[in-house]
Amino acid sequence: MSSLQPVRGTQDLLPAEQARHRHVVDTARGISARYGYQEIATPIFEFTEVFSRPIGETTDIVTKEMYTFTDRGGEEITLRPEYTAGIVRAVISNGLTQNLPLKFFAAGPMFRYERPQKGRFRQFHQIDVELIGAPQPQADIEVIALGADILDALGILKRTVLELNTLGDTASRQAYREALVGYYGQHRDGLSEDSLTRLERNPLRILDSKDEGDKRINAGAPSFADYLTVEARGFFDTVRGGLDLLDIPYKVSPRLVRGLDYYCHTAFEFVTTDLGSQGTVLGGGRYDGLMGVMGGPETPGVGWAAGIERLALLVDEPPAAARPVVVIPVGEAGEKAALRLAHELRRAGFTVDLGFSGNVGRRMKRANKINARVAVLLGEDELQRNAATLRDLDGGTQSEVPLAELASRLAPFR
Ligand code: ATP
Ligand code: MG
Repeated sequence: MSSLQPVRGTQDLLPAEQARHRHVVDTARGISARYGYQEIATPIFEFTEVFSRPIGETTDIVTKEMYTFTDRGGEEITLRPEYTAGIVRAVISNGLTQNLPLKFFAAGPMFRYERPQKGRFRQFHQIDVELIGAPQPQADIEVIALGADILDALGILKRTVLELNTLGDTASRQAYREALVGYYGQHRDGLSEDSLTRLERNPLRILDSKDEGDKRINAGAPSFADYLTVEARGFFDTVRGGLDLLDIPYKVSPRLVRGLDYYCHTAFEFVTTDLGSQGTVLGGGRYDGLMGVMGGPETPGVGWAAGIERLALLVDEPPAAARPVVVIPVGEAGEKAALRLAHELRRAGFTVDLGFSGNVGRRMKRANKINARVAVLLGEDELQRNAATLRDLDGGTQSEVPLAELASRLAPFR
C-alpha cells in the first residue's frame, strides 16, 4: 500500500540515525553558544513572499524547488527551503534591529522539491548560524571560524576543503555582470535552456550551473577578481588575513557563487569528496542586501547553513547513550517492589529498564539485548531482609545489597 510508504524524498529517522542527528545538533549548539550565538526557532512555513522575494525569482529554489500551497484561508504559504529569510523576517517583525549585532543559531527541517539521491532529500535538516548587523569583515571571519570549529568537533574538518570567494560590492558586481553578459552572449549556442533564461535575468547564476555544457563554457568565463573595486578587494584581503591568522586553510575558488541572489562579498563552502556530487556540507556568505529587499532597515548580515544529513553521514559514532540498569522481579513477591524501585531509581537519575512480563531467564536475555550494565534482582528472600541482589553484567559477579544502599552502590553506573 503506497500510502504506508514515506513520501518520496522523506525518511524516518530511526533511533540510531536520530542519535547521529542529535549529536550533530548538540555539538553545533554548544560551540555556537561559546561564540555568543543564541538559539532561535522560526515557523516551518511562512508567507511565500518571505522566500520568493529575497531568494530571487530566477533561482532554482524558487522556480523549481519550493513546496508552495494555498491554505484553507486562501493564503499563499511555503514550507521553508532555508533558514536565513525566515530569521531576517523575524528580526524585522520583532523590531530587533535596535540591538545590533544579533547572533543566532538555529536547527530544523527544510523542504525542497528536488530529485532525491544520497545526501539529497525533499525534507532535510539544517543547522544555521546568522550574524546580523555587523558590516565588518571580522564578522565573516568569525562565522567561518565557528563553522570550522563545529566541523572539527564532529571529526569532519580534515575531510573537507574550505572554498572561498568574493562576490564583491554592488559596483564590482555591476562591472562583472556586464563582462559575463558579453562572454555568454558569444556562447549562446552551447548554453542550457535554464542558463539562457539566467543570462537575461541574472547571468552570475550561470556560474553555479550543474549542466555539463554550461560547466565547459564556465571554465573560460571572465574572473570576478579582475572586476573588484578597491574596497571590495580590501574587504576580501582582510577576511583572508583573518583566516590565515587563525590557521584556517582555504582555497580561493573564483567560480564559487552562492545559489541565492542577495549575497555579496564573502562566499564560502566546506566541501568534501566523500559524498559524491553532494559534496557541499556547509555553505554561506554575506547578505548585506537582504534585510532591505525584505522591507526592513538596511542591515548587513553574514551566515551559513549546513546539511545535517550530510554531516551525519560523515561523523564518527556519536557518544553512546547511558547503559541501563535493569530491574528484575523474581516471582510474584518481587513485582510491586520492582515497580517501585524502578520508579525511584529513574527519579534519582538512573536509566532504568523494567520489563512488563516474563521469567527471570527471559528478562536476563532482554537485559543483554539492551546492553544493560547491571541487574537488580528482587526476590522474596532478599526482600524479607530489605535487600536486593546486584549483578554486574560485565564482570559476572553478584552480591546482596541493602535497599537503602542501592542508589550509592549503583552510582558508578548512572
Ligand atoms: P546543493 O548545491 O548541494 O544543491 P545548495 O547550494 O542548494 O546545495 P544551500 O542552499 O546553501 O545548498 O544549503 C546549505 C546546505 O544544506 C548544503 O550545503 C547541504 O549540506 C544542505 N542541503 C541543501 N539541499 C539539500 C537537500 N535537498 N538534501 C539534503 N541536504 C541539503
Ligand atoms: Mg540546491
